[in-house]
Amino acid sequence: MIKEIEFYLKPEESNNTESIQQQVNKNSGVDISRVKGFTIVKRSIDARRKEPLFRFAVNVFIDAPPEKSNNQIKYKEVNSSKKVIIVGSGPAGLFAALRLIEAGIKPVIFERGKDVRERRRDLRAIQQFNEVNPDSNYCFGEGGAGTYSDGKLYTRSNKRGDIKKVLNILVQHGAVEDILIDAHPHIGSNKLPKIVANIRETILNCGGEFHFNSRVTGLIIENKKIMGVVINNSEEKFGDAVILATGHSARDIYYLLDQNNILLERKPFAIGVRIEHPQSLVDTIMYHSARRNEHLPAASYNLACQIDGRGVYSFCMCPGGIIVPAASAPGELVLNGMSVSRRDSPFANSGFVVTVEEEDLNEYKGSGVFAGLEFQKSVEIAAFKAGNFTQQAPAQRAVDFVAGRLSVSIPKTSYIPGTVNTNLWEVLPLSINQRLKAALIEFNKKMRGFLSEDAVMLATESRTSSPIRIPRSRETFMHPGLEMLYPAGEGAGYAGGIVSAAIDGENVANAIALQLAPVS
Ligand SMILES: Cc1cc2nc3c(=O)[nH]c(=O)nc-3n(C[C@H](O)[C@H](O)[C@H](O)COP(=O)(O)OP(=O)(O)OC[C@H]3O[C@@H](n4cnc5c(N)ncnc54)[C@H](O)[C@@H]3O)c2cc1C
Repeated sequence: MIKEIEFYLKPEESNNTESIQQQVNKNSGVDISRVKGFTIVKRSIDARRKEPLFRFAVNVFIDAPPEKSNNQIKYKEVNSSKKVIIVGSGPAGLFAALRLIEAGIKPVIFERGKDVRERRRDLRAIQQFNEVNPDSNYCFGEGGAGTYSDGKLYTRSNKRGDIKKVLNILVQHGAVEDILIDAHPHIGSNKLPKIVANIRETILNCGGEFHFNSRVTGLIIENKKIMGVVINNSEEKFGDAVILATGHSARDIYYLLDQNNILLERKPFAIGVRIEHPQSLVDTIMYHSARRNEHLPAASYNLACQIDGRGVYSFCMCPGGIIVPAASAPGELVLNGMSVSRRDSPFANSGFVVTVEEEDLNEYKGSGVFAGLEFQKSVEIAAFKAGNFTQQAPAQRAVDFVAGRLSVSIPKTSYIPGTVNTNLWEVLPLSINQRLKAALIEFNKKMRGFLSEDAVMLATESRTSSPIRIPRSRETFMHPGLEMLYPAGEGAGYAGGIVSAAIDGENVANAIALQLAPVS
């Protein structure tokens, strides 16, 4: 018999097996001689009370011990199987590849960027020399945009697919098992590259192919069916299907599809800033104490409100993290956040964004499928100009932003390229700024101190999600106008984050497996 129980432990006891066992015995409701084992199902922090506690949800095995489960997936040898081209090696592309292998199909991945190790040099060049390589940056390269991120794995996509399976695959490739039980699991940018490299090894060992420095520049189309892709304007590559998993920063791909008369749709997205606070301030607010207990992780927050009919919300919060330059082309300034597994930087940052509506687009480029994308680009260019045509970020203290005045000084931030003291009212669109201002006041009511002298806003956070959707059939996942083209992941508009992109990659691969019906 399995009994589900719950209990709370103090932070200092949360990693102590004896303390956990004592609680299991106490809460099992049977004589301890009948308790034959337990598994932790979920671990979360309850910070509502004065002293935060860890909450455990546990399955207790009574009279019979737990059966040993093996969640390791056995991948097949697919050397001479049917071939599916995957464009992009982000979470959508990688998890599509693994799922195809499970189904006995050979994935052939084309990735415009470099492998995880080589990619590091280009990240350093952005941080230190303002050089943005348009094929290798925080968005492009092995593992996609998620590789040098916070590695937050929390998602609400549980209806779309099997989150547990995605987490198990990450564990199979080197992630810590804690991600299977934590309510808000994360991996960290120091651990992710190794996991991504291990996934590549699995794919190669099974007979899949991985091609770096291979940008897709053309599509081979015959009778409304995609036959293959053109790599680097020269080589033609053919496959039985093409998965397009190029992420939301591959603007050239949207233009390429449009040039080939492949239907695209506009979709809602959001724009704003990164806001940074001292982590100690966020800890004090969230944990109600002047100093964080050393057994508690860096505190996080999640805020949202409606201002004048539009959503304003915090996004991709990175406790103990840093702000990074995530531009994918020269001449633009884009910010994002990341953290290492220990989340031990003295800063906390998050996206602080407003949903973009027609009125913003009308102000800029008008209608048409690219209106949102052009608007997004114009904001990124404005930030780049305000940052002295470098990767330095225009920045303003939040209190000064609310008052509409230039800050006297900008405090030290985590952003390595540096900041330029700027009145952000002159950089971001008015309709966005007005709502950010109102939301700062709202958020400060929920989290007193959020709007304070120490809070700094840096422009711009503009890549929360794709401004364009590549349509596909709900049943077959295929594009309605081009047979055997399978749009996937965040760039296609079906995911937002590492896990949801991975799930979408799996779903698309499942649909292809059904379509190609390989003999397994
Ligand atoms: C700095 C940063 C931090 C983030 N932090 C988190 C986080 O903590 N948690 C979270 O859930 N999400 C985070 N995200 C978002 C997350 O990374 C994305 O949602 C996710 O990676 C999307 O997956 P994807 O596979 O759809 O696309 P991507 O990961 O964007 O991958 C697309 C891939 O396609 C390649 N590509 C593009 N064009 C071409 C072409 N023409 N030819 C060949 N290859 C091409 C790119 O090089 C890239 O590798 C972060 C993003 C960034 C940039």
